[in-house]
Amino acid sequence: MIGTNHRIEFDPEKCVGCQMCYKACFVDVIRWDEAARRPIFKYVEDCEHCFCCMSVCRRDAIRVIPDHESEHLLQHFDRYR
Ligand code: SF4
Ligand code: SF4
Repeated sequence: MIGTNHRIEFDPEKCVGCQMCYKACFVDVIRWDEAARRPIFKYVEDCEHCFCCMSVCRRDAIRVIPDHESEHLLQHFDRYR
């Protein structure tokens, strides 16, 4: 298990249910709650820090906050060790 304190902040008040973040996430972090018409950030530990969900949200409802000390990030950016 790779340790991480990676966080994703989501403001449901700003969300308009457009599904763009859900469609943009290429891993299984974001699922879709059909009843609530809102994204669910389910497996945050699997986030690849691509910032696509944050970028495509026109309502500024998502903020991806990487844990820069996590083993997961260091695996991807080995040269910064
Ligand atoms: S992209 Fe933004 S507005 Fe659209 S569903 Fe995701 S959080 Fe909501
Ligand atoms: S930053 Fe990328 S991998 Fe992480 S939840 Fe957003 S779209 Fe998915």
